[in-house]
Amino acid sequence: MLAVIVVRDGVLPLGAHESISECDGRAVLVGTGTAAAASDLDHVAREVTMMEVGEFRPGAWAEMLATQLADEPILVMPASPDGRDLAPGLAAELRRPLYAQALSISPIRIDLIRRHGTELHSIEPPHTFVATLQPGVRGVDRLDATTMVRTLVPVLAQRDDPTIEAVPPPDAATIDLSEAKRIVAGGAGLDDQRRFQQLSALGAVLEASVGATRVITDRGWVGHERQIGTTGVTVDPSLYIAFGISGAVQHTSGLGQPQHIVSVNTDPFCPMMQLADLAVIGDANAVLDALLEQITPPHA
Ligand SMILES: Cc1cc2nc3c(=O)[nH]c(=O)nc-3n(C[C@H](O)[C@H](O)[C@H](O)COP(=O)(O)OP(=O)(O)OC[C@H]3O[C@@H](n4cnc5c(N)ncnc54)[C@H](O)[C@@H]3O)c2cc1C
Repeated sequence: MLAVIVVRDGVLPLGAHESISECDGRAVLVGTGTAAAASDLDHVAREVTMMEVGEFRPGAWAEMLATQLADEPILVMPASPDGRDLAPGLAAELRRPLYAQALSISPIRIDLIRRHGTELHSIEPPHTFVATLQPGVRGVDRLDATTMVRTLVPVLAQRDDPTIEAVPPPDAATIDLSEAKRIVAGGAGLDDQRRFQQLSALGAVLEASVGATRVITDRGWVGHERQIGTTGVTVDPSLYIAFGISGAVQHTSGLGQPQHIVSVNTDPFCPMMQLADLAVIGDANAVLDALLEQITPPHA
């Protein structure tokens, strides 16, 4: 099994380390700054091939990688935005099936997440296939001191892809939660659906995505794709701000390891307040109103 990792300016995507672990430390890094990215893989990768091929062009890369990697029976990509872009093209070029959003991948069995995380489908795959691995679930195996074998392969991706004219700034309300570095989330302590518009406005200022608990998604106040937890999305932000969330284990088990947690809750003893680096005891709705007043220009 070989992990195929898209690298942009030396930065590895979310889920890169896990995909490489799933492939027992074997990876090909493709993109820009691949040598710098390889140095972030100590104790994770044992065999790395670097392909410096310039800016991301999924069509051209799929064609080029299909030639370069034709002898590799199993190709694994993190289900990051670039991985999800590249995987279908690569599978099509290789004429192999694509198994998207897997929880675990092996030559004899693939576990796939289906129906918004409510079902787990196990399948016996064919000999050759392409798969994407869901980030934030598997974790990373730390290899004991090993020497990483690095190879630089000169390749050229030739086909023209469509030109990207502009990339609009991300909308806080719609950023993929699993990718978000900052999240503002709301739970049953919020008194009205409109509080989630306030959370979006706050998120836009903080460059944060909006999340919710299952109580909220069950009410239909926000879509299921915003739900964090065992039956929702697994996230791994560096900052998590929780408004009126108790911190039930089904919620926090999908939370990753945030560097900073801020919790606003009337109950100082609930689990989320115990987890918090900054615990604000008070009415989350009033705190949101006050924050919105601070961030809204006086004449708006
Ligand atoms: C099989 C299964 C799977 C589940 N999967 C998930 C999942 O993926 N994600 C998930 O989130 N949950 C999941 N749940 C539900 C989970 O167990 C909890 O019920 C849920 O997380 C609680 O959401 P909550 O914190 O919004 O609500 P509550 O637990 O009701 O907590 C509300 C919090 O708001 C506080 N509060 C009340 N009023 C205010 C106020 N005015 N200001 C500030 N704070 C206030 C309360 O003190 C309390 O701490 C699952 C449950 C089961 C059984």
